[in-house]
Amino acid sequence: MVFTTAYNPVAQLLAGIKGVIGSADSPCREGDATQETIQSSLSKADFVLRDKVTHWERVAIVTDPTLSKESLKHFSKLHGINGASVFAPLTAHDPTKCCVQDLMHVMLEGGLPLEVQLFLRYVRGENLIKLTELNHLMKSLNFGHLQTDCLSEIVDDRLNNTLRQNSLHLAVGYVFPFLSKPFVKHHPRALQRLNNLVTSNINLALHFTIQVDDVALLERMIIMHHPCFKRLYPDKKLPPKFHYMIHFS
Ligand SMILES: [Zn+2]
Repeated sequence: MVFTTAYNPVAQLLAGIKGVIGSADSPCREGDATQETIQSSLSKADFVLRDKVTHWERVAIVTDPTLSKESLKHFSKLHGINGASVFAPLTAHDPTKCCVQDLMHVMLEGGLPLEVQLFLRYVRGENLIKLTELNHLMKSLNFGHLQTDCLSEIVDDRLNNTLRQNSLHLAVGYVFPFLSKPFVKHHPRALQRLNNLVTSNINLALHFTIQVDDVALLERMIIMHHPCFKRLYPDKKLPPKFHYMIHFS
């Protein structure tokens, strides 16, 4: 058995699976999720997981030299498979199970900055927090090497585009709820949004050691998070990275 830990797009490349980058009909390398079902089905139990046997049958189809170019393209998009895994010669390697989800890509570069951005947009609209105050509080803390290398202020313009905080994601993830809570503790709707930040999920998922009970707790938190996100931000589509979270446990 050979496991691969890599940046998500790289893991997909190694596994021969398109993933969301290839705009596949099946954007998940672990199950049969489609662009539509990741919006409506929020639990791992809602999906049929990919398996090694079926996967290799599909690889044979998308690499069949007797099929036309158009047919190959169709089946590749349908199954979300580009071709054989680079680990194919290692017979014990299962590309559907052995390329684990990348927490940095899914959480620190995906769910967390999105949640922070949506929360800040809301509280700015409600005049609950001034970014200058928040930045001042952030600057007053010691983030170690992130302080000099990567700590950048959260500026108003970024709330309307992609919130780029580089390596600050991790620091923000840990301290942001504590810094923000005093501003919103008397505002239930803002507090709901803050509570739904994925921070608690990543804190648990990023522990160096995880107990068996933690896995069940993590699974429960993710199951609770997604419907809540849909209620709080009904106009926002669930990004595929949120779907990948259901495979953490
Ligand atoms: Zn999936």
